[in-house]
Amino acid sequence: MIYLDNNATTALHPEVLKAMLPFLSAQQGNPASNHTFGRSAHTAIEEAREKVAASVNAHPSQVIFTSSGTESNNTIINGIAKAYPESHFGFSSIEHPCISEPIKSLAHQGFKVSEIPVDSNGIFNVSDVSDEMKQSLTFLSVMMANNETGVIQNIAEIADWARDNKIQFHTDAVQALGKIKVDFEALDIDAMTISSHKIYGPQGIAALIINKKIDLFPYMQGGGQEKGLRSGTENIAAIIGFGKACERSSQNRVIFSEKIDLLKSTLEKNLVDLGAIIFCEKSHRLSNTTFFSFKNIDGSTLLTALDRKRICHR
Ligand code: PLP
Repeated sequence: MIYLDNNATTALHPEVLKAMLPFLSAQQGNPASNHTFGRSAHTAIEEAREKVAASVNAHPSQVIFTSSGTESNNTIINGIAKAYPESHFGFSSIEHPCISEPIKSLAHQGFKVSEIPVDSNGIFNVSDVSDEMKQSLTFLSVMMANNETGVIQNIAEIADWARDNKIQFHTDAVQALGKIKVDFEALDIDAMTISSHKIYGPQGIAALIINKKIDLFPYMQGGGQEKGLRSGTENIAAIIGFGKACERSSQNRVIFSEKIDLLKSTLEKNLVDLGAIIFCEKSHRLSNTTFFSFKNIDGSTLLTALDRKRICHR
């Protein structure tokens, strides 16, 4: 089989599995328990937190572990809505549904909500935001890289603009991590989402990276884990795996992108020769992502035909 669906999920890397196994097979304590087992579980989590933080140049205290990118995105949106009831939420028209849907549902609770279009190259331009909208927006979410087109946004420029206009800014960096440089401190933004299973880590673990400047009402309440922002006993093995996957991805990112860039340009050249149209071809895109179509061929027909030829894509 040829697996070309890594933006959906990646296989667990053997080194990640190896790091996780001791935490799946031996007696584990609850990290909140003050005895030998509990303390060692707590220490292991804090070491993994350091690795996750280092991979995006954040401080470990800014890392909140959650169960998924979806949960991180819901946490920031609903947490802001409760902490700042006068919020006006903006999001780009290409956001993943786990951003667009929770924001849209806030409209039913009386919040002002705006979907902001991207241009024909898949790019979010701050110059396209009207003056009226600029004055009213209080929160904006724009993804760092798109899961379908692979288009990479100029997050530094959008973040500067948001800061100048006193707009809280969040970026969904789920598809960017491990593929391009992600630097939370340099971007100087309020919040960012990353997820483990896109970088050869386990499924069911992710993080919300937050700047302590913003107030966030907890989405999940209970025992007060993760600084009270995400209660629930930690999934220790998954957190350890996420830490290992982050460590690996930081070490391999440049080699990965150079190698994959070459493969992608060969693939796209051959696709174009066969009559394909490549979307957002001229934009700065992730090395591993290509989005194409053939005239008169339905996408799902192509998908099924390729699956029969043992090629999995989306
Ligand atoms: N954001 C983006 C851009 C994604 O591509 C995905 C998953 O495909 C998510 C968020 C959701 O992440 P998770 O699968 O960890 O919930």
